[in-house]
Amino acid sequence: MQQLTPNLWINSSELFTYHSGVFVSEKRAAVIDPGLKQNEIDALAEFIRAQNWNVDAVILTHGHWDHVLGAEAFPNARIYAQREFVTSSHNDPARIAREVEKTTDLGRTTPFVMPTPHELFDETMQLEIGALTLELVHTPGHASDHLFVYERASGTVWTADMLTDEEIPYVMENLARLEQTMQKIRVDDFQFLVPCHGTPTNDANEIRARIENDRAYTLELRGRVENAVRAGNSLDETKEICLDIPYRQSVEKNRGAHRRNIESAYVEFGGQVSEPVGW
Ligand SMILES: [Zn+2]
Repeated sequence: MQQLTPNLWINSSELFTYHSGVFVSEKRAAVIDPGLKQNEIDALAEFIRAQNWNVDAVILTHGHWDHVLGAEAFPNARIYAQREFVTSSHNDPARIAREVEKTTDLGRTTPFVMPTPHELFDETMQLEIGALTLELVHTPGHASDHLFVYERASGTVWTADMLTDEEIPYVMENLARLEQTMQKIRVDDFQFLVPCHGTPTNDANEIRARIENDRAYTLELRGRVENAVRAGNSLDETKEICLDIPYRQSVEKNRGAHRRNIESAYVEFGGQVSEPVGW
């Protein structure tokens, strides 16, 4: 466990870049996306027990398989998620269970069961944890139920699968929606940015660069794909047109995700395809 701020600890997976979080105040705690491997979930629960912290809340930032694994380790906590967590077809429990079972090195000893949230919200909700106020804010686009956790007093924002230095925006739900989310983000809200799949940062220049980069990327992707579809370009032609859209994350590591983003956007903006493409 690594302490990032007086009220936020993170636990990192050895499977791939992945952080779980614990906001804590006055021995009350909220756990965010406990995962990934069973021994990591167990260690997180054990660490919390050893500190005598009471876990009041488990916050699930969205329903992708890697974010829904360890809620069962905190049976006394209420589970929080955005409303589309339970309505999105992407979160079909059987489908998520298949994805979990495909990941062989999780070390699970019990079958995966999709957690059932106790509390759902639409746009935003506040959660009191000790003296902290956590604000859950709907930020769709990567996933329809994606949320940020804001702790405004310290300017700490848990951005889950957005604003990372490692991954470009994975537009797995809807580009128009992600663009709206990106427009709503205000750089002034951020003193400490903590993504799930990337490096936490309190460097103001880095925070600004991440927000501006991902905003510019989504804007440029939408503009080029929309124009290409309007001009009657095929999917292959559209990929040609979009391949050199700039982004600051590793081109080598993000080539596949960028290609899928183009494919999904092409379909989203009305392009015709003969077989399923994209995310
Ligand atoms: Zn995700």
